[in-house]
Amino acid sequence: MKYFYLAAIFLLVFSSCNDVKLTNHTAENVNKQDSTIIKNLFNTALNNGQSYEWLDHLSNQIGGRLSGSHESVEAILWSERLMQNLGFDKVWLQNVIVPNWYRGEKEEAYFTLNNIKYNVAICALGGSIPTPISGITGEVIEVHSLEEAENLGEKLRGKIVFFNRPFDNTHIQTFKAYSGCVDQRGGGAKVTGKFGVLGVIVRSMTHSIDDYPHTGAMGYGDIPENEKVPTAAISTKAANLLSEKLKENPSLQFYFKQSCKTLPDEPSSNVIGELIGTDFPDKIITVGGHIDSWDLGDGAHDDGAGVVQSIEVLRLFKLNGIKPKHTIRCVLFINEENGLRGGIKYAEEAKLKNENHIAALESDSGGFTPRGFTFDATDENAKLFLSWKPLLAPYGLNEIEKGHGGSDIGPLKSETISLFGYRPDSQRYFDYHHSEADTFDKVNKRELELGAASMASLIYLLDTYLN
Ligand SMILES: [Zn+2]
Repeated sequence: MKYFYLAAIFLLVFSSCNDVKLTNHTAENVNKQDSTIIKNLFNTALNNGQSYEWLDHLSNQIGGRLSGSHESVEAILWSERLMQNLGFDKVWLQNVIVPNWYRGEKEEAYFTLNNIKYNVAICALGGSIPTPISGITGEVIEVHSLEEAENLGEKLRGKIVFFNRPFDNTHIQTFKAYSGCVDQRGGGAKVTGKFGVLGVIVRSMTHSIDDYPHTGAMGYGDIPENEKVPTAAISTKAANLLSEKLKENPSLQFYFKQSCKTLPDEPSSNVIGELIGTDFPDKIITVGGHIDSWDLGDGAHDDGAGVVQSIEVLRLFKLNGIKPKHTIRCVLFINEENGLRGGIKYAEEAKLKNENHIAALESDSGGFTPRGFTFDATDENAKLFLSWKPLLAPYGLNEIEKGHGGSDIGPLKSETISLFGYRPDSQRYFDYHHSEADTFDKVNKRELELGAASMASLIYLLDTYLN
C-alpha cells in the first residue's frame, strides 16, 4: 500500500512534469521541424542546385525571348520538357495570344554640332512604329516630365521631344527610382503625339551612366494613327551629352532611324507544371516568373532567373520528400514585358474554372542576393507572415513587409489570395534591365540558388500554415 502510494505520487509528478515538457516540446518541435526543413531546402539548393545550369541554357542556348519570337517558342517547349523530365504530377501549356513586335535592323542615331558628328547609342522602344526608311532629322526640345511637355504644347510642333528626367539616386529601393521615371518611357509618345512632333527620345531607365540603351514597353493609348510617332531610348551617356550640347546650341540637328514593326498577334502559351496537394488538391499556391524577355540581351536577370527559380522550387520539394498539402503550381508566364497577356489569361482561366487560389509568389526582380518578400494580403494573414521572420532571418530574408506582389500574378488579386513578390538586393538590377547587358555572366550562381531556396521556404511555410 505504502509503495503503491509512493508509486502513485511518483507517477503523478512524473506524468505532470512530462505533460508540461511535452507541451513545450510540441511548440518547439513544430518550429524546429520548420527550421530543419528550411535548412534542408537551402542545403539542397546550394549543394545540388540545378537553376544555374538551366539559366545557362535559357540564356546562352536560347537567348532573348520576346513574345512572338521563335526563341520564345523554343523557351516554352524547353521548359515544358524540363518540367516533364523532373516528374511533376501534371505539366501543360495554356494557350495565350500575344502581340508580335520586332526590332528589325539595328537602330542608328547621331547629332551634329559645329560640323562634328556625335554618335548616339539608341534602341527603339517596344511597341513603337518605325521611322521612314531615310530616318528622321530635326531639332530637339528637352523636357523633364509629361506635364512639362503638355504645357509646351504647340511649341513642340516639328521637333523631336527628349524626355530626360534621371533616376533619383537617393532611393535605396531602386524600383522606386524606376517607377519615378518610367512614365516618360511609357507615355511620352502618347502625350506629345497630338502636337505634331517628329519623334520622341527618352533617357534610358537606369542609374548607371554608360552607353547601353535600355528598351521597354511604350504605348500610344487610343491616339489616332496619324499622331503616332517613332519612339526610342538613348543611353544615359548620350542623354547627358545631348543635354549639354543643347545648352550650347538649342537648334542642333538630331537624326535617328529605326525599322521596328508590329506583326499580327501570334499564338503562344504559359507553361504550367504542378505537384498535386495531398490534403487540399483544389487549393492552389502559384510560384512563377515570366518566360518572355526583351530582345537586346538574353534576359538572364529579367526574368530568366525567376523562371529557373520557380521550377527549382518544385524540384527542391521533390528532392526533400516534401509532399505539399495544397497544389503547388509553377507558372511561367508569357508576355509580361509588352502586354501581360499571359498573366491576364492565367487569372481569367482560374476564374472561369472557379479555381481556388490561396497564394501566389512571383520572382521578377533579378537573381540577386535574397533580402526578403513583399506581400499584398489581409491584416490577419499579414500577422501570420510576419511571425515567420525568425525562421527566414538566418538566410538574409529580413525584409518581410507589405508591398507589391508581381505583374503576372496581379490579375489574380482578390480578397482571399495573398500575393508575394520575391525581393532580392536591387542595387545592380537597373544596370542590366532591358538592355544588352542583361546576360548570364551577370548572374551569380550562389545568389541565384539562395533565391530559389528562399522561394521554396516561403512556399513551404504557406503550404504548412495557410488555409
Ligand atoms: Zn521582368
